[in-house]
Amino acid sequence: MQFIDLSAQQLRIRDMIDERIRQVLAHGQYIMGPEMYELEKSLAGFAGVKHALSCSSGTDALLMALMALGVGPGHAVFTTPFTFVATAEVVELLGATPVFVDISPDTFNMDPRKLEQKIAEFKKPGNKIVPKAIIAVDLFGLASDYDETGKIAKENGLALIEDAAQSFGATHKGKRAGSFGDVACTSFFPAKPLGGYGDGGMCFTDDDDLNQIMLSIRNHGQGADRYENVRIGINGRLDTLQAAVLLCKFEIFAEEIELRQKAALRYTELLAKAPVVAPAIPDGSVSAWAQYSILARDAAHRDKIRGKLQEAKIPTAVYYPKPLHLQKAFENLGGASGDFPVCEDCAERIFSLPMHPYLEADDQKAIADIIVAC
Ligand SMILES: *Cc1c(COP(=O)(O)O)cnc(C)c1O
Repeated sequence: MQFIDLSAQQLRIRDMIDERIRQVLAHGQYIMGPEMYELEKSLAGFAGVKHALSCSSGTDALLMALMALGVGPGHAVFTTPFTFVATAEVVELLGATPVFVDISPDTFNMDPRKLEQKIAEFKKPGNKIVPKAIIAVDLFGLASDYDETGKIAKENGLALIEDAAQSFGATHKGKRAGSFGDVACTSFFPAKPLGGYGDGGMCFTDDDDLNQIMLSIRNHGQGADRYENVRIGINGRLDTLQAAVLLCKFEIFAEEIELRQKAALRYTELLAKAPVVAPAIPDGSVSAWAQYSILARDAAHRDKIRGKLQEAKIPTAVYYPKPLHLQKAFENLGGASGDFPVCEDCAERIFSLPMHPYLEADDQKAIADIIVAC
């Protein structure tokens, strides 16, 4: 059994991919070719936003968004310590300061009440680091609490970025992931809900000015044309071949999101009597189910369950074993054990089960039977 099975999907769309790749080889526009623009148009429509700007990875999408918002030294960017490193890495890369906020134990996403408290601490007179932006992360495919976080961002004059790397395809109250905040960023890393055959990412925004600046940043800070440079940018472009692959995958994406709902629901039903906490999806939300993550009683219980599953050749994974405030890379921030108790508790107990649209019901039953017996 595979943790994320990409071969079942490939079987469905292989002919389409071959044909799309053949077309790119025929026209030869390997950088910024027509497939790139077609993908941007399709995904902007899907997300329900005005602009979609493809780029080289989810990490670069976040970097471009922060650069366009003018984030730099002296700025605080509030985010969660329970995320992939890239979310906070790009903040440090720009010389700004990531400020971590603990998560909600039900959703694993940033807790808006704790965000409010943290912002208040940074607004005290004499504070040298100025609050500038919030990066909310839609962990495991579930949209963060944008009703509350959006309000807090507005009240405090902070920019809001949605890290939708794991949540493309999710919705909250009918709005799609990729449409929350001032800019949303997603990733096309192969294992993400909409994954390519390589690296890729996208920024989404309704803001014409921000879009214009990100467009420039993506291509070395270009001005009116490619050889006029008006700001420092990056090479953040998405390959045309990757866009061609993603267009094929996008054809069946909506259906795959439905299949993920079915698989997740099956897990939740099968695990109802198991000694674990299954994911809680708030009313009005539909997760993209990038991961199906559950909480064991404690670290030893998690080891036991993972061990039994391993014996049955069932792969599991832990996202994330070490919160960001405890990582060496962020030791300059002075984080310590005990700073974010909810996040630290989850890191010790959480693990993820195999999850993809083509999971077999029998396999899920076998997985659940093992967990129930632990
Ligand atoms: C995957 C991921 C990223 C980075 O995306 P890449 O395309 O791998 O650069 C950023 N944030 C989160 C939450 C992610 O899961």
